[in-house]
Amino acid sequence: MKTLGVIGGMSWESSAVYYRLINQGVAARAGGLHSAPLLLHSLDFAAIAAAQAAGDWAGLAAQLGTAAQGLVRAGAGAVLLATNTMHKLAPAVQAAAGVPLLHIADATGAALQAAGITRAGLLGTRFTMDDPAIVQDRLRLNFGVSTLLPDAPGRAEVHRVIYEELCRGRIEDRSRVAYQQQIAALQAAGAQAIILGCTEIGLLIEPQHSPLPAFDTTSLHAAAAVDWICS
Ligand code: GLU
Repeated sequence: MKTLGVIGGMSWESSAVYYRLINQGVAARAGGLHSAPLLLHSLDFAAIAAAQAAGDWAGLAAQLGTAAQGLVRAGAGAVLLATNTMHKLAPAVQAAAGVPLLHIADATGAALQAAGITRAGLLGTRFTMDDPAIVQDRLRLNFGVSTLLPDAPGRAEVHRVIYEELCRGRIEDRSRVAYQQQIAALQAAGAQAIILGCTEIGLLIEPQHSPLPAFDTTSLHAAAAVDWICS
C-alpha cells in the first residue's frame, strides 16, 4: 500500500471522520489487521480561519505548501487537503508538493456523474459557494455538473453554522432544520441532488435528513483516498 499525506485540522472535527473512513475503507479492502499508511499534518484552525477572514490567501498558500512538502519529505506519495474551502489553494499546494493532489472535486464529480446528476445544489462555506474556481468550475467542466446555490441569506446562514457550530463540534437541531429548508429550496429550483460541499456538513446532515440524494464530499474524498492507497 502507498502512503498518503493528509493536511487536516480544517477543522479537526472532519479530519477525525476522514481518519476513521480511510482506515475503515482500507481494512475492508485489504482485510485482516490492515489499516491505512497515513501521515497527518493537522493545523491550528483558529489561525487558518483568521487568515481566511482577512483574505490572506498568499500566506495560507505558503503555509499549506510547506505542510505538503513536509509530508512528501516524510514519505507521502500523494497529498490530500481535508477541506473543500482550502482547495482554493490546490494549484499552489500541488506545485509545492510535486506529487499528485487528490482533488475533492474529482471525487465528488465522479460520483455525481456516475449517478447521472447534471444539476446539483451546493452547500459550503461562503468561500466555496462564492468562488467558482474552488470546486464549481471543475464539476462543470470535467463532469458536466452545474451547481445551484442558496440565496444570499441562505448562504450566510450555511456559512455561519459551519464556523460557529460544526467546526466547534456543535450539532444543533435547529441548524439541521435550516439546512433542510435550504436543500428543499434548491430542490424546488431544479437540483437533482445536494452536494455537502464542506467537510463538516455530514456531521449535521445524514442521508436520511436530506430531501435530495446527498453527496458528502468527506466520504467521497475518503473513498478516493482508499482507492489511491490500495492502487
Ligand atoms: N471544512 C470546511 C470545508 O470543507 C470548512 C473549513 C475550512 O475553511 O477549511 O470547506
